[in-house]
Amino acid sequence: MRHIDPNELRKDFPILDRTVHGNPLIYFDNAASSQKPRQVVEAMVDYYYNHHANVHRGAHTLSVEATELYEQARKKVARFLNAPTERSVVFTRNTTEAMNLVVHSWGREHLRSGDEIIVSVAEHHANLVPWHLQAESLGITIKTVGLTDQYRLDLDGLEQAITDRTRLISIWHMNNVLGAINPIRKIADLAHAAGALLLVDGAQAAPHVKVDVQALDVDFYTLSGHKMCGPTGAGALWARADVLAGMPPFLGGGEMIGKVYLDHSTYADIPFRFEAGTPNIAEVIGLGAAVDYLEAIGLEAIFEHDQQLTRYALEKLKPLDGIMLYGPEGDDRGGIIAFNIDGIHPHDVASVLDEAGIAVRAGQHCAQPLMRSLNVPATARASFYLYNTFEEIDRFVDVLVRTRDYFAAHV
Ligand code: PMP
Repeated sequence: MRHIDPNELRKDFPILDRTVHGNPLIYFDNAASSQKPRQVVEAMVDYYYNHHANVHRGAHTLSVEATELYEQARKKVARFLNAPTERSVVFTRNTTEAMNLVVHSWGREHLRSGDEIIVSVAEHHANLVPWHLQAESLGITIKTVGLTDQYRLDLDGLEQAITDRTRLISIWHMNNVLGAINPIRKIADLAHAAGALLLVDGAQAAPHVKVDVQALDVDFYTLSGHKMCGPTGAGALWARADVLAGMPPFLGGGEMIGKVYLDHSTYADIPFRFEAGTPNIAEVIGLGAAVDYLEAIGLEAIFEHDQQLTRYALEKLKPLDGIMLYGPEGDDRGGIIAFNIDGIHPHDVASVLDEAGIAVRAGQHCAQPLMRSLNVPATARASFYLYNTFEEIDRFVDVLVRTRDYFAAHV
């Protein structure tokens, strides 16, 4: 395996050369959205400058070229996930839309009154609110599984929650607050033994971990391009082809039809049945370029780098008084560190860090039930990616310590 040289990779990311409040930018908000390399931006510019037309419609050269670039991106995403066929890769705007697609289309087709689906207390709202929107009209029960005291999914609790009414387990792959990585293959086996399907929210894992939907034996996998060096506005749903083929359309309009009459329509085959209207062509092409970029570096190398940074940061942070950390021990976690400084609101912590040029997120991270279960109103969160360095972590910890000491002395 090649190892990452972040200083070499940084040359691909022009934004990392800028300053914030007179300090070099340290970008530790990658779990919210990663930065974009030149290769991705240039792929989109090349498309707009040289190939733009609508896709899947025209016989003219530009439309054929645009369609080829768009469909190549589908092949790249399929390869990225080790999917057996690109026919079951559906482009969406993001993970949120992909989750809504499954809940709306698969859920309305397959769930009946009295059925149960299982989520955890630590889901992103994108894996809770779509269920809330449908639960009442479908008459289904949403069961929730908690965490262990080690900030990991309670697998015993999950086993106990499964009944003969369980139709689907819908769960995160890497948690966006705790960094914990779920044992997806084990959860898939539990789901399938009960005759249920598994939907995986891959928003945080796909950018950092090698995902193999066949080895994981999942039924649905979702991702957001903007967290994996791609542009905003392009994400994907992968589903097992037989499952996807049995699902009705989500949105209706052009592109997704077979025949349209005044009073009814027939629908296209997969994946086009789920891509109504003109898609985000440039963004999808950008997502394809992001996949090429990540694969050229290697997902194993990216994950190793994330882990080294995380271990290094945790070793520095753990001994510090007055700094609380929320996340599991061990290597099976990604580069996400949620923390608080005793007595200081995380928004204030984020503001002080921003003054020093360091971008972190503060708030509830679209995970209000998790915040309640951790018994904290909010946290700050630092999250790393392939261009982050050990020196940046040194500076981050240094500013945190000074912030803690300043507030202790003055407030
Ligand atoms: N799930 C998880 C675990 C996430 O971290 C996020 C993004 N914060 C989402 C879903 C939603 O992603 P998007 O906003 O790109 O739809």
